Amino acid sequence: MLIVMKPSATEADVGRVADRVRSLGFTPHPIPGAERVAIGITGNKGPIDPVAFDDLPGIAETIRVSQPWKLVSREVKAEDTLVDLGDGVVLGGPRILVMAGPCSVESREQLFEAARAVKAAGATLLRGGAYKPRTSPYEFQGLAEEGLKLLAEAREATGLKVVTEVMDSETLPMVAEYADMLQIGARNMQNFSLLRKVAATGKAVLLKRGPSSTLKEWLMAAEYLLAGGNYRVALCERGIRTFETMTRNTLDLNAVPVLKQLTHLPVVVDPSHGIGLRAHVPAMARAGVAAGADALIVEVHPRPEKALSDGQQSLTPAEFGALMAQVRVIAGALGRPV
Ligand code: PEP
Ligand code: MN
Repeated sequence: MLIVMKPSATEADVGRVADRVRSLGFTPHPIPGAERVAIGITGNKGPIDPVAFDDLPGIAETIRVSQPWKLVSREVKAEDTLVDLGDGVVLGGPRILVMAGPCSVESREQLFEAARAVKAAGATLLRGGAYKPRTSPYEFQGLAEEGLKLLAEAREATGLKVVTEVMDSETLPMVAEYADMLQIGARNMQNFSLLRKVAATGKAVLLKRGPSSTLKEWLMAAEYLLAGGNYRVALCERGIRTFETMTRNTLDLNAVPVLKQLTHLPVVVDPSHGIGLRAHVPAMARAGVAAGADALIVEVHPRPEKALSDGQQSLTPAEFGALMAQVRVIAGALGRPV
């Protein structure tokens, strides 16, 4: 259930409603909006009788949330969520952000070259994995803490914010120490114990879509993060598994407008994993922006042919620069700065 407070409701009114929710054995989640506060309720098994709140002042209405996801839903919060990463970098507002960098951090030279190039082209976040979920145990697994240190150095040198994947709870405290935004990879989307622990760090989260997950499963995974008290969450469409084998995955751009309707969380598009072929990444990046994405995450490598992971889908710095110019034009048509 959702309790919508009157615009005139005081903090004390909100506090009394939250106390009542707790006294019923449930958890209140006050969500401030532009005009009024709404209080989401979780922990209840069945419907709650609104009569339990009849005597409290400041309540405008009580709404039964029709979907199994609650806190991520537009019903609970009509306004777009802004994920503030500091220093004016805000995901989910009018400005379209671009996150770019190599699939894996491989060396100082490689990372710095990529970081300087994507910064010069207009990216605001640097991506790069230090812990890599590889299909084969014999392939490059990432530089671990050494990679995280290099990301932090590159942040110092360029001012770019850092988004990097956390694969498990053992390494979570360390990854959280270095990252501005924690990426939960596609393969971990439904790792519920990891989701709970990541929520508790309070760090901004980029939740990638599982390769065979429905939008509902994905929203429920995001719900774990919000129910764990972390509202700084963005959803990243990175392609799903279909019967098609010509491309690595099938980038489900349907997800973008549908998610924008269902949830207030920002939506990010990853054209690199989505199609998996360098020649076609720019087209899908442009399409992602046109479909309404709030950000792109793009793999860029100074020498893709030498990359230790995902070289076949990594853009060169020059290709990325050309893409950024096109992205600005498309974003401009939508009235959005980049
Ligand atoms: C990545 O971003 O390099 C990655 C491994 O992504 P995904 O989890 O979407 O496969
Ligand atoms: Mn990759």
